[in-house]
Amino acid sequence: MLDLLLTQVRLQNETRLMDIGVRQGKIEYLAPSGSEFVPEAQLIELAAGGMLLPGFVEPHIHLEKSYLLSRMTQEAASLSEAIRMTADMKHDFTPADMKSRSLAVIREAIRSGATHMRCHVEVDPILGLTAFEAVLELKEKVKHALDIQIVVFPQEGIFKSPGTAELMDEAMRSGGDVVGGITYQDDNLEAHLQYVFELAEKYGKPIDFHADFSDNPEQLAINKIADRTIAAGMQGLVSAGHVTSLGSLERRQAEVVADLIKEADLHIMTLPATDLFIGGRGDQEKQRRGLTPVGMLLEKGVNVVVGVNNIRNPFTPFGKADPLEIAWLLAVTAYMGGEGDARQLIKMLTVGAARALGIKSYGLQLGSEADMVLFAEPSERDILLGKPEHRTVWKRGVKVAETRVTSSLQGFLQA
Ligand SMILES: [Zn+2]
Repeated sequence: MLDLLLTQVRLQNETRLMDIGVRQGKIEYLAPSGSEFVPEAQLIELAAGGMLLPGFVEPHIHLEKSYLLSRMTQEAASLSEAIRMTADMKHDFTPADMKSRSLAVIREAIRSGATHMRCHVEVDPILGLTAFEAVLELKEKVKHALDIQIVVFPQEGIFKSPGTAELMDEAMRSGGDVVGGITYQDDNLEAHLQYVFELAEKYGKPIDFHADFSDNPEQLAINKIADRTIAAGMQGLVSAGHVTSLGSLERRQAEVVADLIKEADLHIMTLPATDLFIGGRGDQEKQRRGLTPVGMLLEKGVNVVVGVNNIRNPFTPFGKADPLEIAWLLAVTAYMGGEGDARQLIKMLTVGAARALGIKSYGLQLGSEADMVLFAEPSERDILLGKPEHRTVWKRGVKVAETRVTSSLQGFLQA
């Protein structure tokens, strides 16, 4: 007997309405609705033609430095100012404070339909391992609803902040999932990259960089990351967030870089809320958008995914942990307004991000883990444009969130 049967769901790439059944956390039944033989189930839910997607995968987010607006006396006017302001506030972070703000983000992500998340946790002489330990504790606590990967992230630089290298090693030894790096904080880029790749090799883990967050087309660490990835045989195991300087490069040169990114099978994580807010500020006219060239990278076959990154802090005084909201923002700012674009964006939030994070057993097919989010809307485009609150979320077949909204209209406006 099935634990759960969802009837009349719409799936991606399938025109018929389908029934989908779950047993012991896995998808065990999948057939067109109205089939002659339908297995019995403990629980049956009617989807009534709403679209069922695999759970969203949030590929790049910061937990412990979220929700800082009330502590700020002014907005940051540049990336360096955002880094400095946040570093100042970090001195007052306590484990309880970091946990409560992180949990607020996690709750919102789960409600939004995220079933997997990769977060960058800061490890440096200011915080030591306190942020890492706080998130490690939360990772265990919420694992019934959300799988979290922790990137050990040297926001203040590895060599610029002495002691960071040792702390990173200790964090990787203590349960870090991914080695982090940041290409624009240390003076010696080669030494930085070498340390990151060596640490990844030591622990047999993937790498995730904050890279080339600039309008300066000459800031192109991504080439060096690609070369080292190929040399280390780590194709498919290295990601890079931002990569905005590529958007300022002349098209033909940018295509050469994109070919190299493709060859190294780097996953590019565009972070539009932060990139749009910080980028292009120095331009007095012809102001650039500050995004990585998403369309061109996709044309080249690069796995481009989109992340929330920061929530309400100096880097991004906006935002919520809803993958759909950030995909909508990318749609508007990367000229992705068509029906095919909507399907592409939803793919970026799901299978694309799952591939970037190396998640196994993902997707709505037989044998996969039943991580799912159900909408009332019938298509990807309707979901993307409406960003509806109405969602139901299952993690390994267990319902973990359900959001319903009511509203009323007065008088003749009533339907
Ligand atoms: Zn980030």
